[in-house]
Amino acid sequence: MQILIAGAGHGGLAAGAILAKAGHSVTVVEQAAREQLGHDWEDRFTFSVLTDALGITESELPPEIWRDRGDCTFISPNGQTHVDIHFDSNSRQRVMWRKPLLAMLLEHADACGVRFRFETQVTAPLLDGQRVAGLRTQAGDFIADLVIDAAGVFSPVRTNLPEALGIEKYPRRGDLFYARRVYFDRLPDVTAADIPFEVYLRHVGEEGLSWFCTNPDSVDVLIGRIDPLTDEQFETLLARFRAAHPWMGTRIVHGGQSGVIPVRRPLTRMVADGYAAVGDSAFMTTPMNGMGIDLSLRAGKLLAETVLAHPDCTAQNLWQYNREFHRLYGGDTARNAGLKSALLSLPAQDVDFLFAARVVESSDLAGGGRNVNIPALLGKLRRGMKKPSAFFTVVNGLMRGGRAAKLYKKAPEVFSPDAVAQWDRSITELDFPID
Ligand SMILES: Cc1cc2nc3c(=O)[nH]c(=O)nc-3n(C[C@H](O)[C@H](O)[C@H](O)COP(=O)(O)OP(=O)(O)OC[C@H]3O[C@@H](n4cnc5c(N)ncnc54)[C@H](O)[C@@H]3O)c2cc1C
Repeated sequence: MQILIAGAGHGGLAAGAILAKAGHSVTVVEQAAREQLGHDWEDRFTFSVLTDALGITESELPPEIWRDRGDCTFISPNGQTHVDIHFDSNSRQRVMWRKPLLAMLLEHADACGVRFRFETQVTAPLLDGQRVAGLRTQAGDFIADLVIDAAGVFSPVRTNLPEALGIEKYPRRGDLFYARRVYFDRLPDVTAADIPFEVYLRHVGEEGLSWFCTNPDSVDVLIGRIDPLTDEQFETLLARFRAAHPWMGTRIVHGGQSGVIPVRRPLTRMVADGYAAVGDSAFMTTPMNGMGIDLSLRAGKLLAETVLAHPDCTAQNLWQYNREFHRLYGGDTARNAGLKSALLSLPAQDVDFLFAARVVESSDLAGGGRNVNIPALLGKLRRGMKKPSAFFTVVNGLMRGGRAAKLYKKAPEVFSPDAVAQWDRSITELDFPID
């Protein structure tokens, strides 16, 4: 079978390696040059998911490419309430540099027989009626039995699919997080805060979050908002951070790039005849914390297993991947999206109240909002009732997220466009409105 992968996204590389190893002809079409791939920053994810994809053990990961991250504190918009999270050795967060992470996935794909066409931009799917029959690229058209769309959040494959397929093309306001990230030098002889990783929810009352992470040799600043940041806004916020953190230097040592993260529920339908989306192109992240590497790699593996079991790449066959992804992961991220949207819809002073009244606590925040349980939250009713509108907005977000999660986990067993469209509508009705 001829398989084309649009973009060298993480899930596409993972799927491609498995499929090429099984004897299929797999080519990745990537717009960047190989050495440009990956951002110059560290990411948190579950290392065992990566080592599983690479077929190695965690002890084989080179020690210089990862480190433990320190304890974390969540800070309310007005800066007055801090919710601290102390990790033990089992729960401590670990981060890895993105460039070596991608280099390992690329080398593994090479070793499995995947071919690459770097510096080649994909412009659209090549269509045969409503079937995806290949890719249109700046270097010409290429045909395939299956196109795996791993071209990220703005994929030109997804956005140029026929409307009639019912695959959502464009994110809405609040679905994306526009982030800039820079590592500055850390000034010696200036005492730093006790808790190294500071996360500012609705930072300075704006729609988004920021973090300030003090490393032994640098400080890592991320500023993200639901609308694109201007240079002026970014510089102003950096200056505020520098004023509050006298150990933050001015010399850039890593990063300096921008990125966009989908922070919404995943695509309901992500397959068509000859087409499957994976990773950010299908909005596969945990909305509260923007983590997408685990989910992309897991989805890539599921997709490859589905294709190996049913090599005729019809929407009916690929639906098994779609359905299984949502049963295992998509439902939980949809639940998380409800909480994220509720918090985003609140005025910043209401978020301050939820922090100050301990309605939002460390147990809720430790898993990026994945640990919130509704009975426990209802137990906070007495504290929350001092500001019922804020409290009920959060409960409403959680309830909608909970219902969406159940629906995601019960996608139609057999693919039919009508049944899938009806299922999709029942989920869309639960979306939490953001102005
Ligand atoms: C600032 C920031 C911090 C993050 N931190 C974390 C974290 O700590 N943990 C975590 O799990 N996730 C994190 N993420 C999210 C994570 O990067 C993504 O969820 C993850 O990379 C999965 O995306 P992907 O591989 O599907 O797509 P991408 O990483 O976007 O890869 C898409 C690939 O497709 C290529 N491409 C795009 N368009 C075309 C085209 N037209 N033609 C050819 N090629 C194309 C791109 O060049 C790229 O190589 C972060 C993201 C950002 C921006």
